[in-house]
Amino acid sequence: MNKDSVQNGVVVSMEYTLHVDGELLDSSAGHGPLEFLTGYGNIIPGLERGMIGMKVGESREVVVAPADGYGEYDEEAYLDVPRAQFPRDMQVEEGLELTVRDDSGQGRYARIESIEGDLVRLNFNHPLAGDELHFKVKVVGLREPTEEELTHGHVHSGGHHH
Ligand code: ZN
Repeated sequence: MNKDSVQNGVVVSMEYTLHVDGELLDSSAGHGPLEFLTGYGNIIPGLERGMIGMKVGESREVVVAPADGYGEYDEEAYLDVPRAQFPRDMQVEEGLELTVRDDSGQGRYARIESIEGDLVRLNFNHPLAGDELHFKVKVVGLREPTEEELTHGHVHSGGHHH
């Protein structure tokens, strides 16, 4: 199979910047190119889709709508939890990000929106929910995944092993 462009089942190395409302939120500049295996949900779907067909050295601007990024903002995605239900030694304060296990044991992102008396209000929206994401990406490498990477569905470079 010809793997000289971005397609499912290829390991892509990319440099990128992410702007929201004209503000730089994230960039590969500090930590080097991001490497990921396509086709396994390793990056947000709208970005991956927007990169299909890119070759090494190619740059592209990809605008991702909320639905294809971190979701629409959900006004209902709040939950008030009594302070007593948090671990005693936890520093419960506004802005704290935590993972909450639901009934099935699935971890879910949440952050503390506000604290009123004994009630802690959790917000389950991702910080970038409802935002249009403006990526500038450059493909700096493409390679075949190893058998093990394909089995796991993610790359094993950069010291990541499990
Ligand atoms: Zn693995």
